[in-house]
Amino acid sequence: MTTHGHSENHKESDLMREIGIDMTEISRRMSFIGFTENDRQLLSEMQGFAEKHADRIVTAFYDHLFSFQETRVFLKDPRVVERLLKSQRDYLLELFTGCFDQPYFERRLRTGAVHHRIGLEPKWYISIYSFYENLFSHLIAETYRHERDRGLARDLAVRKIFRIDMVLSLEYYFHRITLDMTTRLKENAREMDDFTRMLSHDLKEPLRGIEAFSSFLLEDYSALLDSQGKRYLNFLKESALQMKALIQDLLTLVSISKRGPKLQWVNLETLLRKVKKDLHFSIDQKKAEIVSLSPLPKIRCDPIQIAEVVKNLISNAIKFNHSTPPRVEISVKENGTLFIFSVKDNGIGIEPEYTDQILLPFERLHPKGVFEGTGVGLAICRKIVEGYGGEIWVESAVGIGSTFFFSLPHEDTEKRP
Ligand code: ADP
Repeated sequence: MTTHGHSENHKESDLMREIGIDMTEISRRMSFIGFTENDRQLLSEMQGFAEKHADRIVTAFYDHLFSFQETRVFLKDPRVVERLLKSQRDYLLELFTGCFDQPYFERRLRTGAVHHRIGLEPKWYISIYSFYENLFSHLIAETYRHERDRGLARDLAVRKIFRIDMVLSLEYYFHRITLDMTTRLKENAREMDDFTRMLSHDLKEPLRGIEAFSSFLLEDYSALLDSQGKRYLNFLKESALQMKALIQDLLTLVSISKRGPKLQWVNLETLLRKVKKDLHFSIDQKKAEIVSLSPLPKIRCDPIQIAEVVKNLISNAIKFNHSTPPRVEISVKENGTLFIFSVKDNGIGIEPEYTDQILLPFERLHPKGVFEGTGVGLAICRKIVEGYGGEIWVESAVGIGSTFFFSLPHEDTEKRP
């Protein structure tokens, strides 16, 4: 189905450039489909045929569209119908001039633009091409019944050029659909940005108030409060702190995809030393042993992101652990194109049915009073690791311990500094 759409204000060469094709590409496509000079010649000899049958073909085309509810909706406005029928007639005549130049193919792309604008989906207009092909086959067979071979060759030539035209209109249609989707994605990202800003400013502010004033009450009015009152106030303060931590974790989760990784070569031995330093408080408090079983490699990554993963896993390994001492073993092995890292603990373990669930945001297996946390740490790890095309998973036995694994694709060693 074709419309010239002269009303669209584009220069003839705009659309081809827009989707990054030129006449060299079109020639390659034509030779790939086997459309030769002979085909062009055969088509150009059929001008008389086209003029003779144009009205009949256009009428059949209209009747066909009209007989289906899905296409009838496009035929409500008589002006649109008039334009459509004229454009079909022009297309048919144009097909048999044998002049397949840039403006010809630009018009095929414009067809896709029109289909996109009016909302005619490929599933319908592909079938319309097929309808045309059948009709042409029939008419050509009838016209050239005394020269069957020539008829067949012409039939094939028509089919080839139809394929090329159809692909072009589809290509442009999907180009526009992609543009629409990109715009929508950008809008979503902007909304997400606004939401994040709202979270960080508007929500944090009243929380700071609650936290500060409950502290003031506890400090300055302690003498006036009985133990029940103090307990309530402490709950209040704890809840505010918990919510602050949740907001902070949520912001981290959102910022991972927004920021995108800043890649550089990172020595993971150095990174682990830094993480241990950051965690020294809980390591010292529980006298935890953190050991690496194999030398850690240099990888290309964003050190802030990977440090976040390692820190979360080690801190969980110490936190969800009642052994004395808690022991955390870190190791790495290469598996094809992947590094597989593991963080093994001798902690409380995880019931098998929860091992997938804990990787989702806010999923915690223990009441707040027992282990502190927001339930977002592993979701952050997962988002980071998946951003590198890796995976994260856990193997665990209750009462024995857990091993968290994460894989990161490794870069060509040749390129390592
Ligand atoms: P948080 O630590 O803030 O609760 P995480 O997303 O890091 O959140 O972990 C989610 C849940 O997974 C934890 O609440 C805990 O129940 C479980 N979990 C995580 N790591 C371990 C571990 N090493 N051993 C046992 N349970 C764990």
